[in-house]
Amino acid sequence: MVPYDYLIVGSGLFGCVFAHEAAEHNKKCLVIERRNHLGGNIYCENKGGINIHYYGGHIFHTSSKRVWQYVNRFVEFNNYINSPIANYKGKLYNLPFNMNTFHEMWGVITPQEAQMKIQEQCAAFKGEPKNLEEQAISLVGKDIYEKLIKGYTEKQWGRPCSELPAFIIKRLPVRYTYDNNYFNDLYQGVPIGGYNVLINALLKNIDVRTNTDFFVAPDEFKNIANKIVYTGAIDQYFDYTLGTLEYRGLRFEIEKHNTDNYQGGAVVNYTDKETPYTRIIEHKHFEFGKQRVTYITKEYPSTWKPGEEAYYPVNDAKNTALYQKYSALAQQENDVIFGGRLAEYKYYDMDKVIQSALDSVEREF
Ligand code: FAD
Ligand code: UDP
Repeated sequence: MVPYDYLIVGSGLFGCVFAHEAAEHNKKCLVIERRNHLGGNIYCENKGGINIHYYGGHIFHTSSKRVWQYVNRFVEFNNYINSPIANYKGKLYNLPFNMNTFHEMWGVITPQEAQMKIQEQCAAFKGEPKNLEEQAISLVGKDIYEKLIKGYTEKQWGRPCSELPAFIIKRLPVRYTYDNNYFNDLYQGVPIGGYNVLINALLKNIDVRTNTDFFVAPDEFKNIANKIVYTGAIDQYFDYTLGTLEYRGLRFEIEKHNTDNYQGGAVVNYTDKETPYTRIIEHKHFEFGKQRVTYITKEYPSTWKPGEEAYYPVNDAKNTALYQKYSALAQQENDVIFGGRLAEYKYYDMDKVIQSALDSVEREF
């Protein structure tokens, strides 16, 4: 008899939700994690009462009542609403693109004036936008594209906007109201006490091993459980036999500052091309902290090489086609469930990862 029903590779949200639900079904699970901590990219490090979002700022937002009720079973959320500021060469603009932004950019006051300005600026494009540049200009006009989108996006993705898929920019709302809420979702907040509270609650009473990489002893791990839930990179599982999927890398620089308030809000984006980082996160503001010091993270996009931490999948046509081939291989793999942002190669938000994990639980039990 094998010791476990499920071996779960990776302790991010997908792995943790699956493990919790499997345990609820009286299944014995082991979670292995190659990093030295649990939680994947939502891991927080607490310093002096401030929860530092170690892999960049994370704001929970969802329109799914099911997912919202699910996470609230494990941790209470505060009423943080994300309303980042864009800093373009020292001038500040509200995000996402809304009447405040349009007023700051052009001095317009009414929605009609803003609409006219944008129509004027995107008159050159007709038909379906073919790439991010065309999509952005058709949504918000040339001025906003050039000051608030082009520099940020080309830094973030390391390629021209004309070579990026349009869907990336459609993540951001465009509103003709004076509303700086970055998300349109019904529910939003940050866990009180940080994301580790959620992770630890999900993994309560479940066997875990950190500093443990599946690929160090794959055969041994395959024999430890009846089934595997794999949340690592799908191409790595198949030893890159069909080629390597591309990712965008990130480098996080965390700094401590002896001030109680460094930038006046949790998120400031630097949208010019020259500043090497895309945004500065000031973590205490996620939980309205009153500490005498502060911690900030500068987020530097970077070229990704195999073997490094993979952050953003590059969902262009070439990579999507390669992913589909791997996905076909994955379907033939008996007794392995592939899930999460690396195994599904998807630009997933947290709520979508939870939804995906709950869906695979439903298929399984
Ligand atoms: P991960 O969290 O990546 O977990 C996978 C785990 O598997 C990792 O811990 C990894 O170390 C481990 N692993 C991989 N291979 C192996 C192996 N061979 N052996 C053992 N372990 C392995 N979402 C939002 O909803 N709101 C936000 O504001 C937001 N901000 C973000 C900001 C940044 C900078 C980034 C990068 C992402 C952001 N996200 C946000 C997305 C969010 O982080 C993800 O949706 C979520 O964390 C994905 O969970 P996961 O379990 O799929 O993957
Ligand atoms: N974006 C931009 N300017 C900004 C913020 C975002 O051009 O100030 C674009 C950029 O292309 C980015 C995309 O919008 O990749 C999605 O932004 P989001 O904040 O959702 O990115 P994430 O939080 O996932 O990094």
